[in-house]
Amino acid sequence: MRSHTQPLSYRLIVPNGYPESPDALPLVLDSPHSGTDYPPDFAPAVAHGVLRTAEDTWVADLWDGALEQGVPMLAARFPRSYIDANRACEEIDPQLLDQPWPTPLPDSAKVRLGKGLIWRMLDDGTPLYDRKLSHEEVHHRIQACWQPYHRALDELLSAAQARFGKVWHINCHSMPSVAGAYATDKPGLVHPDFVLGDRDGSTSDPAFREMVAQWLRARGYEVGVNDPYKGVEIVRRAGNPAAGRHSLQLEINRKLYMDETTLRPNEGYARLREDLRLLVAAIGQWTREQL
Ligand SMILES: [Zn+2]
Repeated sequence: MRSHTQPLSYRLIVPNGYPESPDALPLVLDSPHSGTDYPPDFAPAVAHGVLRTAEDTWVADLWDGALEQGVPMLAARFPRSYIDANRACEEIDPQLLDQPWPTPLPDSAKVRLGKGLIWRMLDDGTPLYDRKLSHEEVHHRIQACWQPYHRALDELLSAAQARFGKVWHINCHSMPSVAGAYATDKPGLVHPDFVLGDRDGSTSDPAFREMVAQWLRARGYEVGVNDPYKGVEIVRRAGNPAAGRHSLQLEINRKLYMDETTLRPNEGYARLREDLRLLVAAIGQWTREQL
């Protein structure tokens, strides 16, 4: 195993010799929202415990059985509430800034929900700041966190594709058991066990999501597809099925593995971790058949 870290940005855990080693798989995982290193310049107006509800806590750890099977994992170190790697760099919320942004900002449904590149509020509507942010703060978060993370993911996918010709990518997330008031456009929705998103088949050949959905359903899980989570910026950037890059967002219901208030692993954690290890094995075999 090789391990690389970028101080604020990420941990990259790569199997020895990847992707040239004989047991390497054409599969890459990333976890953009499980980071827990809260930078000192964050200065939010929300208590730490409340802030942590924005994390996909434990997600990178839940998938750690992938490494021994020849699959690398890129995991953010910065917390999602500091800057959200699953947004476009331009999704800046003008209401957060102490002066107007110098270039026009795109209309963004996520910004309207208060969940742009830098969040204005948590899922329940709690404001994150009692101050405005400077342009320097926004630029710093992009340069120290967002850019190195995306660069590392691009390099990992390119290296795997250079070896295998094709690459499959799972963008790993978690979701609350019930959607918060400002989490999505479906507040109060009770979530299934898993939601797979490939932006309606545009970021991956649908055969990938169907293989994963069928495997999970056979294990007794309830699986949604492209609803209420279609996949966002990371799969949009990473996926290009016509060019052999297949990118799938995978949301796990947090009730399966942790207490959603204390964030401590619950009695389901070990079973889920083992199921994800077996899922990686099944995907690994399936991807080899697609080469
Ligand atoms: Zn997430």
